[in-house]
Amino acid sequence: MTDRLLERRRRARSLAAAAGLDGLLLTPGASLAYLTRHAPPPLERLTALVLRTAGDPVLLVPELERLGARDAVGQSELEIVGWRDSEDPYARLSDLTGGGRWAISDDAWAAHVLGLQRAAGSIELEPIGSAVPLLRAVKDDEEIRLLRGAAQGADASFVDIVPLGFAGRTELDVAADLDRLLREHGHQRVDFTIVGSGPNGASAHHNPGDRVIERGDAVVLDFGGAAGGYCSDLTRTVFVGEPTSEAREVYEVVRAAQQAAFEAVRPGVACQDVDRAARSVIEEAGFGERFVHRTGHGIGLEVHEPPSIVGGNPTPLEEGMTFSDEPGIYLEGRFGVRIEDQVAVTSTGAERLNRAPRELTVVE
Ligand code: ZN
Ligand code: ZN
Repeated sequence: MTDRLLERRRRARSLAAAAGLDGLLLTPGASLAYLTRHAPPPLERLTALVLRTAGDPVLLVPELERLGARDAVGQSELEIVGWRDSEDPYARLSDLTGGGRWAISDDAWAAHVLGLQRAAGSIELEPIGSAVPLLRAVKDDEEIRLLRGAAQGADASFVDIVPLGFAGRTELDVAADLDRLLREHGHQRVDFTIVGSGPNGASAHHNPGDRVIERGDAVVLDFGGAAGGYCSDLTRTVFVGEPTSEAREVYEVVRAAQQAAFEAVRPGVACQDVDRAARSVIEEAGFGERFVHRTGHGIGLEVHEPPSIVGGNPTPLEEGMTFSDEPGIYLEGRFGVRIEDQVAVTSTGAERLNRAPRELTVVE
């Protein structure tokens, strides 16, 4: 594990150098945990990993958390410096950076960013997400194993929700079942349980409410959380009773688009070309305007992370990248269809991490 952390920090430094940065500043969050295993909650007291492009990294922590940080980080040659409440942590941080051009966590608190700028004067800051977008994008075998495990927990939750019946129940009721099932299938955390029935399914990120599901509805189920620290995110659309021929056609267009994107995935292919593969199928069927979002997002320690599978993103795929393949068609006022799997780029193509059936599913 220690070697893995050293390798991650080595890679982070070389990405930072390639981006022309003096280093990276990581405040509490997924990237700090990824690089150090230290995972404190974000607080008003400053915690920051100072990862210099040239020079050894330093983890600056509140003195009262120093021993905990040392235990978390373990034997990994990372200097830990504590600051006391009577000191100005931003002056310490400024000294550690030495000024220059740095990338800082996208979700660093404004109070910390402004405190550093006030202390450092000339430091130039930019968000890590745009400066070093691929910091966590290429997963190692262990990470892919954990993502596969989380995906399988979501798959099993879908298989178990199908026979429970939908007609006559509220969206919130079905959402509660999804929450329970994800936990039963190994999730420590549930992050979202979207249940969009009938016209609500045309709103891609619908919040489940007290609408009663009826026969004839399409129901978009999009749910996920985390198992073993890694995220799941699965969408299936089911039909309550036999769908109309139009609904059946829309479903099959989305399924074909999802398959086309999957077949486009292999190392070296640009993210935008995977999006194009799905979008072309939907455009040719005449629904191009109704596919209102990107084809996918990266997934890992966070449910949305780079790479973005979107038009205009020329980033070439690399073996080990993991992301969603989730085209959809949304017919406002009527219904929506989305099908989503997580996929991993292999040496020659792609692996679906999700295995839940994609065939049109009719429920009671
Ligand atoms: Zn989703
Ligand atoms: Zn997703």
